[in-house]
Amino acid sequence: MLKGEENLQLLAKPKKIIVTTHHKPDGDALGSSLGLYYWLKKKGHEVQVVLSSDFPDFLDWMPGRDSLIIYPEQPTQAQQLFDEADIIFCLDYSALSRTNLLESVIREAPGQKWMIDHHLDPEDFASLSYWDSNAAATAQLIYSFIADVCQDKEAVDELIATCLYTGIMTDTGSFRFRSTTAAVHRIIANLLDAGAKNWEIHEHIYNSSTENRLRFLGYCLMNCLEVIPEYHTAIFSLSKEDLAKFKVSTGDTEGLVNYALSIKGIRLAGLFVDRTELIKLSLRSIGDIPCNEICKTHFNGGGHLNAAGGNSNEDLATVVNRFKSILPDYKQYLT
Ligand code: 5GP
Ligand code: MN
Repeated sequence: MLKGEENLQLLAKPKKIIVTTHHKPDGDALGSSLGLYYWLKKKGHEVQVVLSSDFPDFLDWMPGRDSLIIYPEQPTQAQQLFDEADIIFCLDYSALSRTNLLESVIREAPGQKWMIDHHLDPEDFASLSYWDSNAAATAQLIYSFIADVCQDKEAVDELIATCLYTGIMTDTGSFRFRSTTAAVHRIIANLLDAGAKNWEIHEHIYNSSTENRLRFLGYCLMNCLEVIPEYHTAIFSLSKEDLAKFKVSTGDTEGLVNYALSIKGIRLAGLFVDRTELIKLSLRSIGDIPCNEICKTHFNGGGHLNAAGGNSNEDLATVVNRFKSILPDYKQYLT
């Protein structure tokens, strides 16, 4: 759905533009941001991608990563950009709180906010929004924004294609999830035609573990996994000590929750991590089990039906016990 279409004419002349995405960006957040960045630059705009945090090591090969501005590292320079920007793109989030430190900066910035996203329940803050909760990835929406909304498919070159391919590949679990429609595959085919090297991107993302990260995975599988067979549920809980033992950094826990879901018969999987500021949780499910509803109702979060997240200020054991105690409420889905 496209709202605020009349504002699109702003792009007819060179503008000052900032691209933002959610805190701790994943492959789709960074891929869609950098893909849009390259397209806007090609159209003659002055563009910067500003992040609220660092990003995982497995994305530290992406084209354009050296041009990223990380707000906490350069607050004065970033603030000036926000003061001057004509347009602020808000990608892969539809609630400003998901940008953490940037929330008030974006809210107070004088420029127009343009949101492109695929999450449910969007907040109403944007003067233009291109939104579809059925889209497999925000990168898919960036592709159709460029190709269909702006009628500029020919501009999609190798750089843009590489970024968008990364976003779609990571948000569909390498084209496995139910969201991977024929239309997604058609876009992927166009991205390959435009020069994305699928094999190279897979190599960068999936074959770039450090030895330490792989041993950390082994440790978690051995020590941190709990299976609750009566509710077809399995969870990992990782304490601060577990993280410290392996010097875990941003992104090292990415994908871990899927190992819990890969157990035969398991339909709901959780990952609870004791981060310094709070407990972060990730849920994944198959079928109708509503991860987003569970996160929204009980853990201050949200997301999609089969993949959602949230957080809590309580201690790890309390959060995990609370999660277990609510499983009977979802008996209809889980048993
Ligand atoms: P992950 O578990 O990989 O962090 O996130 C899975 C999905 O849930 C993503 O689509 C993400 O945007 C959403 N999500 C994760 N954490 C939060 C949160 O704290 N609040 C909300 N509203 N959504 C979240
Ligand atoms: Mn996404």
